[in-house]
Amino acid sequence: MNKTKIFILLLLSLALITCSVQEDKTNQHNFGIVIHGGAGSMEKANYTAKQITVYEKKLNEAIETGYSILDKGGSSIEAVEQTIVVLENSPLFNAGKGAVFTSNGLNELDAAIMDGSNLNAGTVAGITTVKNPIKLARAVMENSKHVMMIGDGAEKFAKKQNIEIVEPNYFYTEERWKILQRIKENETNKDESYLNKYSDYKFGTVGCVALDKNGNLAAGTSTGGMTNKKYGRVGDVPIIGAGTYANNYTCALSATGHGEFFIRNVVTHDISALMEYKNLSLEEATKEVVMNKLVKQKGAGGVIGIDKAGNITMTFNTNGMFRGFKTNDGNSTVKIFKD
Ligand code: ASP
Repeated sequence: MNKTKIFILLLLSLALITCSVQEDKTNQHNFGIVIHGGAGSMEKANYTAKQITVYEKKLNEAIETGYSILDKGGSSIEAVEQTIVVLENSPLFNAGKGAVFTSNGLNELDAAIMDGSNLNAGTVAGITTVKNPIKLARAVMENSKHVMMIGDGAEKFAKKQNIEIVEPNYFYTEERWKILQRIKENETNKDESYLNKYSDYKFGTVGCVALDKNGNLAAGTSTGGMTNKKYGRVGDVPIIGAGTYANNYTCALSATGHGEFFIRNVVTHDISALMEYKNLSLEEATKEVVMNKLVKQKGAGGVIGIDKAGNITMTFNTNGMFRGFKTNDGNSTVKIFKD
């Protein structure tokens, strides 16, 4: 083979390599993750610089956990579950360890996960002994014929699934206990709009939504519910379409806030429906529901979302929301207060 032939062959192979790299790029879907750690009446003046750093560090750890799963080609469901486990294991948030107390002084946890690729979902409510309710929700989705399990039955299923069980007092934190006592003292206040002003009503629920490299969306949410909840009250979190929803056709969403309003307004499904039937963008649809519909009813809270193209939203009608995201275009942030 003469030198010219070798040179042409080299050029051809270079062109082939460039082509396949470009093809990979176009085949590769955008991916990313968004999280929240609850919305509420957060005034910057009430937090020390150290407290802010502690929250930001935990939010970053959670985001990195999920993002690295997505970056390695893992599924959005796996990313959502593992991210929420990090937040459930932290006493900083109202989910898992650090959950708020019921009026009887107990911790009753709710969680949900949804797979946007097939609309499968798993949810649990009234859980008192499962360390990570989000793992149980995923087991309900993947290893049972059901969507929702509650109380004792759900806990029996957890044992069968070898999901870690803890003593109920594992969930105890002094801070949440003190909040329950303060709220009980103020129980006579019937005006629900006080939820927005009253710093004890900080919704610390955690949530995560993700889009993976295969274009699949997933959403998950986990909570202790609302402080002083009574009579086996269940909030919006484990109600599919209220606090949690994912659909590859539109978006993945997770909510936090005063659950009764999110149930009545079927908030996350409403946002998805506005996108599906009215062609609104994720941001437009979320703003319509969170900043218009809910505000008119004094329904406090926020929603995070990611759509099938990787656009994100972190919308809230309170003073603040623990939140953050990371997407494959190199953008990322962690925030607590209003901009
Ligand atoms: N939405 C939750 C509930 O009502 C509370 C929260 O977001 O912190 O149970």
